Amino acid sequence: MAQAFLSNRVVTPHGTRPAVLLVEDGRIRAICQRSEIPFDAIIHDCGNDAILPGLVDTHVHINQPGRTEWEGFRTATRAAAAGGYTTLVDMPLNCLPETTTVAALEAKRQSAQGECFVDWAPWGGAVADNQQHILQLARAGVRGYKCFLIYPGCDGFTMINQQQLEAALPAIAESGLPLLVHAELAGPIDQAAATLANADWRRYSTYLASRPDETELQAIRLMIRLCRQYKFRLHIVHLSTALALDDLRAARAEGLPITVETCPHYLHFAAEDIPDGATLLKCAPPIRSHANREALWQALAAGDIDMVVTDHSPCPPEMKRADTGRFDLAWGGIASLSLALSIVHTECARRGHSLDHLVRWMSSAPASLAGLSGHAGGLEAGREASFVIFDTEGHFDVSRGDLHYRHPISAYMGETLQGRAKSTWLHGELIYTRTAASPFPATPHGREIALS
Ligand SMILES: [Zn+2]
Repeated sequence: MAQAFLSNRVVTPHGTRPAVLLVEDGRIRAICQRSEIPFDAIIHDCGNDAILPGLVDTHVHINQPGRTEWEGFRTATRAAAAGGYTTLVDMPLNCLPETTTVAALEAKRQSAQGECFVDWAPWGGAVADNQQHILQLARAGVRGYKCFLIYPGCDGFTMINQQQLEAALPAIAESGLPLLVHAELAGPIDQAAATLANADWRRYSTYLASRPDETELQAIRLMIRLCRQYKFRLHIVHLSTALALDDLRAARAEGLPITVETCPHYLHFAAEDIPDGATLLKCAPPIRSHANREALWQALAAGDIDMVVTDHSPCPPEMKRADTGRFDLAWGGIASLSLALSIVHTECARRGHSLDHLVRWMSSAPASLAGLSGHAGGLEAGREASFVIFDTEGHFDVSRGDLHYRHPISAYMGETLQGRAKSTWLHGELIYTRTAASPFPATPHGREIALS
């Protein structure tokens, strides 16, 4: 039987307007007028709550198999559903084995079986020594490759040097899939370390000085040169420094196939406000200045940054080293799957950006990056009915009950945010209800998105 979702603000690829989202057999049958609702349809009147396409997060560290005690499919996808996400793309590291071979990919699939409240797809890894696996991984269903130009913070997933990368790039270009690059080079970090020998590592300013803008800038310049030479799709993950925007803009103007993401924490926090010892805010590259944050917002508005994804990367609480407050000892990573929509919406509301912008940055652009546009990223007839009912007005103070991922600690605890998901729907079925005693279904029915 059809279900009709009525709202004054349905966010479609053609703009936001009053409409009815008509859902049948798990798909969007039509976006239509009230007069076109079938007489026997079940009516959901959402009033002024907006209907957005399910958000797509292409930067999530699920860590299963192998480090499920950090974060697993069940807990990450539960947090995703609560945050209005209906599709996640999993990063190939911090799990064991790392997703750098087809066998490892199969182990990941096995472990995800029956555990996912939302849909998911895998990234593969491009590491020091897996060049011969690149095309096999593509055929087996990865959506692209992630690489690190610097030590990734965790043994097992090796960084790739320029020579090793150049050995992999012909296969990556042939695959037609994007290469996602953690763009930091060690040179400027090593130089900075020499000046920080006796620094106080409880201070945020020490951590910030240890990873200067130049670290990202040099890596991005190297990757632009390689993109020009090898003609592969280049994607810069978690851009932090606004100083790289000129180079990226020029490279894109030249026609190079480059996309760029940034993350909620770079758009919400600023270095000047981070207290010493606040290691929950450690991530790499680091959160930079107020002025840098505003430049990132301008770049989003101008289209020079394409998308906002979370880089959800949790760990057991003790690894954040609250005992010492030392930034050099703490694990780097900020978890935000359940909050990102509220965080970005809060900042959009302050700056006058519309829901159409937000949906482009958090749903359509990431879907396109991962080759998922036929499945997610826009409310259109014929697509799967995966969407979120979003109350844009309510304010709330972040508390443990809002988190839903494995370890309920957060850099955002106590922050006041505006707007949050009321309910989330996957293939036409309810997967999250904020006010329900049991917010999630008893049985997860998310699935891996098959290659089309
Ligand atoms: Zn990451």
